[in-house]
Amino acid sequence: MTTPPKRTPRVMHVSAKSWITPNMIRVTCTSDWMQGLEAGIEGAHFKLFIPEVGQAEDAFVNQLEVGPRPTVRTYTIRHLRPELKEIDIDFVDHGDAGPASAWARRCVVGDVAGFAGPGPIKLKEFYADTYVIAADMSALPVAAATLEAMPRDATGLAFLEITSDDDRQEVDAPDGVAVHWITHPDPHQPVTQCVDRIASLPDFTGRVQTCIAGESGMIKALRAEIINGRGVPKEDTYISGYWKIGLIEDEHQADKRANS
Ligand SMILES: Cc1cc2nc3c(=O)[nH]c(=O)nc-3n(C[C@H](O)[C@H](O)[C@H](O)COP(=O)(O)OP(=O)(O)OC[C@H]3O[C@@H](n4cnc5c(N)ncnc54)[C@H](O)[C@@H]3O)c2cc1C
Repeated sequence: MTTPPKRTPRVMHVSAKSWITPNMIRVTCTSDWMQGLEAGIEGAHFKLFIPEVGQAEDAFVNQLEVGPRPTVRTYTIRHLRPELKEIDIDFVDHGDAGPASAWARRCVVGDVAGFAGPGPIKLKEFYADTYVIAADMSALPVAAATLEAMPRDATGLAFLEITSDDDRQEVDAPDGVAVHWITHPDPHQPVTQCVDRIASLPDFTGRVQTCIAGESGMIKALRAEIINGRGVPKEDTYISGYWKIGLIEDEHQADKRANS
């Protein structure tokens, strides 16, 4: 049996870019096919294909079609405006060491990139008595999209870890979800603030749903606390490592597969 070829990633172009906070770059991308994306997919991830520095658009598009596969990283749809054929992608600016961060820093209006996906949104239904949200900056897009999609009478807690106080964003959370911002200036140093805050909470009330994502070490500790410690059923949780200190994304994904 032959394996069917994977669908060629779709092409999109940068239509706007700005630093929305000191360590977060919002890149808006546009293309006609975006008007066909399903409404309400904010928070879903996709695969971003990144051109090499100085690579001509024709050469990149050809590479998307015939290979070898360009550098690929995983990102989140922060906003979708199908009527304008646009998505916003929020990139943590962690310098030029990573191809995706470096691309977000250098890209200008008109630049090309590739898109494959989207994957599923993370919380498809909202049925909890208590919501627990935790994210570092890499997962702020999914956390913010989830908070915005929740029923307006939802109750719970959100712990959002940022690199500087100025990285706080406006997030349209329900009034009953208390949002706590935690500043951690060096993301490359492991930190337990978020885990400690959640571990010190009293027992959760009623049924719990979570949207928790970020650096792998933090996620491992939170998974132990929420699932093993507090007995929240796995099926009510979204808990996912988005990156790992010292590993590039491909190494992190391989690490996740080896430990799953
Ligand atoms: C489902 C999913 C959705 C995601 N959505 C987003 C999103 O919307 N926005 C976003 O910014 N990230 C998001 N991420 C995380 C992103 O895929 C990783 O941070 C990725 O490693 C970035 O690629 P890079 O090329 O910049 O760095 P890489 O080449 O992968 O890594 C280079 C170096 O940078 C370090 N590094 C990687 N990420 C960070 C970081 N956030 N802060 C500090 N150092 C880092 C690595 O440990 C490594 O040492 C998501 C991940 C997943 C799995």
